[in-house]
Amino acid sequence: MAHREASPPDSSGADRLRIGVLASQGDFAAHVAMLHSLGAEPVEVRSADELRDLDGLVIPGGESTTIAKAIERDGLEPAIRAHADSGHPILGTCAGMIVCDRDHLGLVDATARRNAFGRQIASFEVELEVGGLGPDPMRAVFIRAPWIDEHGPEVEVLASVDDHPVVVRQGQILLCAFHPELTDDSRLHALLMAMATAARERAAPVRGMGSAE
Ligand code: GLN
Repeated sequence: MAHREASPPDSSGADRLRIGVLASQGDFAAHVAMLHSLGAEPVEVRSADELRDLDGLVIPGGESTTIAKAIERDGLEPAIRAHADSGHPILGTCAGMIVCDRDHLGLVDATARRNAFGRQIASFEVELEVGGLGPDPMRAVFIRAPWIDEHGPEVEVLASVDDHPVVVRQGQILLCAFHPELTDDSRLHALLMAMATAARERAAPVRGMGSAE
């Protein structure tokens, strides 16, 4: 069973970060594979119980209306909220960005516009510099993607396309409009894991190790 260890996570064994991936609908499997490749223990989440004791959570792309309905049907909202309220990070991608906005779970002070790039533009790719991820751009795969239409002052914009925010962060909530799981660039997932490690250390400070960076 999961238990918290007072030592930093490593890439094997009991200290591995347990990162949930909401698996109601959408392309959760690619997120699971990416998290696994980074040394996390991915946990497919379909019930409130499976949301307990996670270090982080991914809400994947798919169909936001379907995912929002599944969250309601399966009674997941209080557990997702408890996860966020206890300072654990969430990465919402594409439909997951929409699900976290003001009109849905309200985890960020921002409004996402569905299919913002136009329905006819089913898919496109751009090289995108993302704040905090270093100078190398990411190959960003957009699929009927949203953008952030409007946001409050606490929302930090990490990347934009044509002046429309497509990667934003508010505290422990990180949202991106594209599909980072469909390339081999795992830096957003690694950022989620770094946020999860920091949350673990806040909960159980490591003695004698100093603070990581
Ligand atoms: N267009 C979808 C929606 O509005 C999101 C697409 C995606 O997640 N790739 O829910």
